[in-house]
Amino acid sequence: MLDAEFFRRWMTAAAASVDREADRLTALDSPIGDADHGSNLRRGFAAVAAALEKEAPGTPGAVLALAGRQLISTVGGASGPLYGTLLRRTGKALGDGAEVSTEQLAEALRTGVDAVRTLGGAAPGDKTMIDALVPAVDALGESFAAARAAAEEGAAATTPLRARKGRASYLGERSIGHRDPGATSAALLVAALEEAAG
Ligand code: ADP
Ligand code: MG
Ligand code: MG
Repeated sequence: MLDAEFFRRWMTAAAASVDREADRLTALDSPIGDADHGSNLRRGFAAVAAALEKEAPGTPGAVLALAGRQLISTVGGASGPLYGTLLRRTGKALGDGAEVSTEQLAEALRTGVDAVRTLGGAAPGDKTMIDALVPAVDALGESFAAARAAAEEGAAATTPLRARKGRASYLGERSIGHRDPGATSAALLVAALEEAAG
């Protein structure tokens, strides 16, 4: 079973990973965006880590709800409301129990990813974070490691795609040949889940 401490470790590992990879995420956002993805998420997840330390929420759902609120209020770019919605809706779907099963997490994350799809209007293949999140959720029933591998594969597979959502879509054909920054950060988030599981 996964308790609030597990979810706190997930968010802390995500914050550390985003901090380490911020320059790479920003570099990916340079040719097909506005070169701020790494700095956006670094600021957002630093706020998440600080808020979790200060408020110490006691349930898995409350950890993710707090994290989502922090992302929405501190990240100006498109990714803030999208990741914020992912975590808030996943947290809400987890309910207010003190522990959840891996199956409950997989189901709740599917609800969260669906909310991101509704909010942003992106479908798989549109060259967004959805291209890493959907395969990860599909693989989560198997294991955290399978989810990480699926997310990384999904992120890598965005390179030949043409962007249909977000800033990169303004480039049309010229978005082809560049890996999507949001799919790359989504894979980091999924990898942090495996880290939290130990
Ligand atoms: P901004 O583009 O506002 O500067 P970021 O650079 O932080 O925001 O995030 C860009 C990433 O957000 C993209 O690489 C993409 O993965 C994701 N993204 C943008 N628009 C959407 C959308 N409508 N649906 C899903 N993901 C999106
Ligand atoms: Mg950007
Ligand atoms: Mg921006």
